[in-house]
Amino acid sequence: MKVRVDDECSACGVCEDICPEVFELGDEKAEVKENPVPAEYEEQCREAAEECPTESIIIEE
Ligand code: SF4
Repeated sequence: MKVRVDDECSACGVCEDICPEVFELGDEKAEVKENPVPAEYEEQCREAAEECPTESIIIEE
């Protein structure tokens, strides 16, 4: 599973709270640290995508 963060990200930090192994806040938006996402973090990554207030986490299978 691959994931990216689009430019609508508001840098709120929710994704980093849910899955810090994959997401890390950068200066203006969240960055993806592990791509492809390791299998053990896929579920957390999907949860982060669901909880993202701006729907900025794009999952690319
Ligand atoms: S949860 Fe969404 S808006 Fe918030 S930092 Fe992560 S990608 Fe950006």
